[in-house]
Amino acid sequence: MSEAGVYLHIPFCRSRCSYCDFATDVFTNGEAVERYVSALVKEIETAFSVHQSLTINRRIDTIYFGGGTPSLLTARQIEKILGSINKKFFIQTNAEITMEMNPATVTLETLREYKNLGVTRASFGVQTFDDVELRRLGRKHTARDVRETIELLRAADFTNVSFDLIAGLPRQSLLDWERNLDCAFELNPEHLSLYILEIHEATPLAEQIRSGRQPLPDEDLAAAMFKLIIEKTAAKNYRQYEISNFSLPGFESRHNSKYWTLDPIFGFGCSAHSFDGQNRRYSNERDTSRYVRLIEEGNSAIVEDTQTDTKSEYVFLGLRLTEGINLKKYQNLFNVDLREEYKADLKRLEEFELIDLKENCLRLTTKGMLYSNEVFAVFV
Ligand code: SF4
Repeated sequence: MSEAGVYLHIPFCRSRCSYCDFATDVFTNGEAVERYVSALVKEIETAFSVHQSLTINRRIDTIYFGGGTPSLLTARQIEKILGSINKKFFIQTNAEITMEMNPATVTLETLREYKNLGVTRASFGVQTFDDVELRRLGRKHTARDVRETIELLRAADFTNVSFDLIAGLPRQSLLDWERNLDCAFELNPEHLSLYILEIHEATPLAEQIRSGRQPLPDEDLAAAMFKLIIEKTAAKNYRQYEISNFSLPGFESRHNSKYWTLDPIFGFGCSAHSFDGQNRRYSNERDTSRYVRLIEEGNSAIVEDTQTDTKSEYVFLGLRLTEGINLKKYQNLFNVDLREEYKADLKRLEEFELIDLKENCLRLTTKGMLYSNEVFAVFV
């Protein structure tokens, strides 16, 4: 079995972005954060007595601090969390340790401390280089903050930096998006996560669209933006390895790749998900206060324990990767020929130019990536 990864959810942010549906709380006081960190440490240190099936493989080669804004934690808090992981897992010497960061939340000193603690990779929430768009999204930082934070990251010797950017923001034109991509290239990140905006129910942005204060996203424009992403990243030597992820050679996210190749993940913190690498997924309590209370009272934070359909997950997660699915491997694993199993569906998807089926490989076309949810629905 492949080595596992650890995901840690840090649910605090400086403000709430209008499009966000992650489990986050606005950072109000240090005491609440300290209490959360203690709960997280307790969850890590007691997890194995609570869920025995998570003990399958304790060798890990990736750790990912996600959120939220993990860079709101002090170096001492990160050290405490890493210390608890070290007690319970065997962390490989070359482990990838990623921390999500937001602009203007770090100083050079904090970054150096994170680096000394072993953080190897910064995943940086840029979203857009346009100050008007940033304000519209309810984000606290400016494009200038992005540039300054990147300088700090480089000064602190971070050599593996990823940017997150969102295409299709309200009122964003194709030219605006192209400018955003150019600004990103100028700063030479090793990795880019480029997403098309998704509107989630129950977010302020969804409400703004319903009430007509913001326009509905335009599908044709989103398609044009996606094509531009593919063209411009290729011209700059970034390799697309997943629908939304692009990297310079050797800088693919090892942690995120585990989700698409069905490797085991241990998730800790509110709303975190775990996967045993076989057929069971676990979800933690989403609400921060309820999560902390559960742990403080000595309970498990897991509120959902589901048996998965590994065969269908293998297809729709594998199809996210540009290398696609190896059909021989599929046959060996599940004892069935995918071409026969989905014969009529595959023919239809090929006719619509959504998939590319050659020899032993099934993969999405560029058009298929744009309509990936429709393709995945066939295999669910
Ligand atoms: S910074 Fe990220 S996690 Fe926090 S509210 Fe904004 S989008 Fe959500």
